[in-house]
Amino acid sequence: MPSPASPLDFVYTGHAVRVVFGAGSLDHLEREIGLLGARRALVLSTPEQAGQAEDIARRLGARCAGIFARAVMHVPIETARAAREEAARVGADCALAVGGGSTTGLGKAIALESALPILAIPTTYAGSEMTTIYGISEGGAKKTGRDARVLPRTVIYDPKLTLSLPPALSAVSGMNAIAHSVEALYAVDANPIISLMAEEGIRALARGLPRVVAAPGDLDARADCLYGAWLCGTALNGTSMALHHKLCHTLGGSFNLPHAETHTVILPHATAYNARGTPAAMVRIAAALGAPTAAQGLLDLERRLGTPLALKDIGLSEAALDRAAELAAANPYANPVPIERAAIRRLLDNAYHGRAPEEA
Ligand code: NAD
Repeated sequence: MPSPASPLDFVYTGHAVRVVFGAGSLDHLEREIGLLGARRALVLSTPEQAGQAEDIARRLGARCAGIFARAVMHVPIETARAAREEAARVGADCALAVGGGSTTGLGKAIALESALPILAIPTTYAGSEMTTIYGISEGGAKKTGRDARVLPRTVIYDPKLTLSLPPALSAVSGMNAIAHSVEALYAVDANPIISLMAEEGIRALARGLPRVVAAPGDLDARADCLYGAWLCGTALNGTSMALHHKLCHTLGGSFNLPHAETHTVILPHATAYNARGTPAAMVRIAAALGAPTAAQGLLDLERRLGTPLALKDIGLSEAALDRAAELAAANPYANPVPIERAAIRRLLDNAYHGRAPEEA
């Protein structure tokens, strides 16, 4: 029998999602909708991606029940209600989400109440399509939870659909994905299967992102990034997240900071904070980045990508730092290094000014 301290003593839960991957894989949409048994799909998108939604609707032909192009960040309850009503009104038997985490999140809000199957076509690297995690915001607060009903049944990853994602957005979205894998590698419930995916996900994104930023039309680089995003989303779903995600949730939820940019700025700092508590994970993260240390490797990648590096540059006011530190240290949760308010306040100060990350 392995000893309790052995890495080969773990729990792994597999989730059945059918993944269709490859440039041009959207051409399989009709087949995939058929396999789901759906006859009336409601196509969801943001207003900005209404054109992509219309293209999908054309491909679906008679199997399209309508388009709801009103997805916005953080799934406001009013939007969720309107989408649910629209799904019921048109007699939808499937929610088809084409877009990033905001659109997938709207599909999840529908599935949560109706149990409609979701077919997701991700166009960012957020990874929501691989998770049972949903979030709905009401009265300024975002409530999140896990429910198997919101996990998409089928995901079509077509790198061609990501060609239009602007380089700056691609960069921060990719760092958002890497953050899932960083925390999966040191999660309290880490396991060797998810760790394989997490490490490979970081490697694929670290390989692809600089090429995407240099040449946004490079389809091979786009495929690397989307492949990495899939693995990182699976890592997010398969483990419990810690300090990094807690900080980003607090900053996003309470101070309305942009999601992927916040992940980008915080990630090197949260990684450095946790470094001494989880050396083996740090070695794997550094190896995947091809860097001497994990936190430095993340920062170097971000500098190469030209992402924001300071909270002051993405909309946070300095006056908010005390409250943010208080909120982030309020409820205890598993983390490789103890969460101490003063140390978190210092982390936030460094992140606010864009200073070098420090170990706790
Ligand atoms: P997003 O979905 O809000 O998209 C950002 C903008 O980019 C939107 O205007 C969108 O229309 C546009 N866009 C997306 N793909 C494009 C493309 N290929 N070409 C041109 N424009 C494109 O951003 P996001 O970062 O993907 O998602 C963020 C949201 O997802 C947050 O609310 C976050 O909490 C949630 N999220 C949830 C999970 C989960 O597991 N539940 C995981 C990650 C993120």
